[in-house]
Amino acid sequence: MTYREAKHLAQEQLLAAGIEEAAYDSFALLSDVCELDRTRYLLEMDQPVPAGQLDIYFKAVAERAGHVPLQHILGKAYFCGHAFRVTSDTLIPRPETELLVQEAIRIIRGKYRETDAVQGSSRGKDCHRSPLSVLDMCTGSGCIAISIALECPQVCITACDLSEDALAVAEENASSLQAGVLFIRGDLFGAVEDTFDVIVSNPPYIPTKVIGTLSEEVRLFDPRMALDGGEDGLRFYRRIAAEAKEHLAAGGVLLMEIGADQAATVSEILISAGYGPVSVRKDLAGLDRVILAGR
Ligand code: GLN
Repeated sequence: MTYREAKHLAQEQLLAAGIEEAAYDSFALLSDVCELDRTRYLLEMDQPVPAGQLDIYFKAVAERAGHVPLQHILGKAYFCGHAFRVTSDTLIPRPETELLVQEAIRIIRGKYRETDAVQGSSRGKDCHRSPLSVLDMCTGSGCIAISIALECPQVCITACDLSEDALAVAEENASSLQAGVLFIRGDLFGAVEDTFDVIVSNPPYIPTKVIGTLSEEVRLFDPRMALDGGEDGLRFYRRIAAEAKEHLAAGGVLLMEIGADQAATVSEILISAGYGPVSVRKDLAGLDRVILAGR
C-alpha cells in the first residue's frame, strides 16, 4: 500500500468514526509514524509504506477512531510554538490559552519598561533591578509557565499544581525546552509563600454537569480535575480571588482564563474580593477569554 492509499484509507476510517478533522489527523499520524513532512509526502506518496510502519500507523488510526485525542497518541501538543509532552494526567493545551500567555507577556514587558523609566531617571544606567516574579497557578503540563519563561527569561517564574503526576510532566517539559521554572505542589495557594508581580492561571472552569455534554476526547481523556469547576464552574475563581490577594505584590496583576460566558460573574467575584480595575480580553473567535485584575 502506498503512502497516499494508506492516508486515504485512514481518513475514510476516521470520517466513518465521526472524527471531524479526519484529513488533518490522518496526515499527522502518518507524518509521525513514518517521519514524513509534507514535502517528502508529496514526493514519495506513490511509494509503498514499509510493512512495519503500516501496522503501527493503522494501530494509531484505530486509537484515534476510538476518540483518543490526537495529542495523546502523538504524546505531544503544540502551544505557543513549542512541543509539550502531554499525558492523561495533564490537560491538553488549548490554542485559545495562548491569549493568556500573550497578555501575561504584555504585562511583564510593560512592568519592565516602567521600572526602566523610574530607575533610569532616578539612579542612572548602572542600577540593578530585581527580576519580576510570576506565578502560574494550576500549571498542568506547564505550558503557560514555560512559554512565559522562554519569552521572558529575565523573570523568576514559579508554577504550582495539586497533581504530582502533572508536575512530573511539567518538569520534564521545562527541562526538554530548557526553561527555568520552579515547580511546587499544593492545593492552590496552600504551599505558596512568596508574593508575585504577576499571577496567571487557567483554572478548571467547566460546570460539573456540563462535563458530560463535552466531546469524548475531552470528557474521557482530559483529567477531570483539570476541567471541573464545581456546580457553577466558578469554584476556583472564588478561591483564587480570595487566596491570590495576599500573594500579589502592590501594583501586581492577576490574569485568568475564563469560559466565554463567565466574564460578568468572574468580574463581580474579583471586584467584591477587593481587586482594582478589572478588564476582559477576547480570543480570536471573538469570545471573552481572559480577565485581568489589578490590586
Ligand atoms: N495550565 C494548564 C493549561 O492551560 C492546565 C490548566 C488546567 O488544568 N485547568 O493547559
